[in-house]
Amino acid sequence: RGKRAFIAGIADDNGYGWAIAKSLAAAGAEILVGTWVPALNIFETSLRRGKFDESRVLPDGSLMEITKVYPLDAVYDSPEDVPEDVKTNKRYAGSSNWTVKEVAESVKQDFGTIDILVHSLANGPEVTKPLLETSRNGYLAAVSASSYSFVSLLRHFAPIMNPGSATISLTYIASEKIIPGYGGGMSSAKSALESDTKVLAFEAGRKHNIRVNTISAGPLRSRAAKAIGFIDMMIDYSLENAPLQKELTAEEVGNAAAFLASPLASAITGAVVYVDNGLNAMGVGV
Ligand code: NAD
Repeated sequence: RGKRAFIAGIADDNGYGWAIAKSLAAAGAEILVGTWVPALNIFETSLRRGKFDESRVLPDGSLMEITKVYPLDAVYDSPEDVPEDVKTNKRYAGSSNWTVKEVAESVKQDFGTIDILVHSLANGPEVTKPLLETSRNGYLAAVSASSYSFVSLLRHFAPIMNPGSATISLTYIASEKIIPGYGGGMSSAKSALESDTKVLAFEAGRKHNIRVNTISAGPLRSRAAKAIGFIDMMIDYSLENAPLQKELTAEEVGNAAAFLASPLASAITGAVVYVDNGLNAMGVGV
């Protein structure tokens, strides 16, 4: 049997999640997707109307199939956690069973088990504000959507993950080095995500034989990155200063994720793997 992957955080064909799905599909995995509830409608409509067909093409010429798209809001663990204004919001009211616990239950009902869990989502409502000007709520929201969301996903999916399964999240070097402009507590959220990668590698490794790794990716012009506002500058900076002077493609991150999810990486867990043209290794720009 081929492997089954659940990828949380795909809402278009520009981000890392989409590229990871493609690399996993090219390697023979079945693809399930979790899409943020407010973005679900447009994503499904675009899929159905063939808007992504060009970017669905795999190396062998076939089109990536997405077996099922689940609505997901990874900020809520179970229905009791959803505030009234969200419940009745018309973008949410049209969908159901989108809390993390319910999505894991739905996947279990539909497919039984999975082998690969990918977390490719982040949100920081105050990302454009310096940390020094970030509110408590903004900071906590960033950590909730970008860090705890992974803890929650792993916690709820672990029971339906086959032994030997792998999980991957996406992080950014702003967790460990100063990247002015990556504000709103997002740098803090990525630090938490990386630290949790180690602790969860231990806990999920011992308890379930699940591997936990994170990819520290270089800059990509995704929808989320454009919202931060400095993405073109970061891409130019990398082009000028990284050991490899080429633009980083989402596909390169997708391929690294496929490797980490495969038996080729069977002894790799608790790792932060840099897929950034080597930029992290530079001490000064030259
Ligand atoms: P993206 O916009 O393609 O992906 C982010 C996704 O998160 C979106 O689909 C969005 O709908 C979803 N999302 C937001 N809040 C959510 C919630 N509460 N529940 C469920 N889904 C939610 O952008 P991307 O840049 O590909 O981001 C994917 C991951 O890669 C993120 O963790 C990001 O921090 C990381 N990353 C990105 C870059 C970059 O330069 N683009 C660099 C390093 C790391």
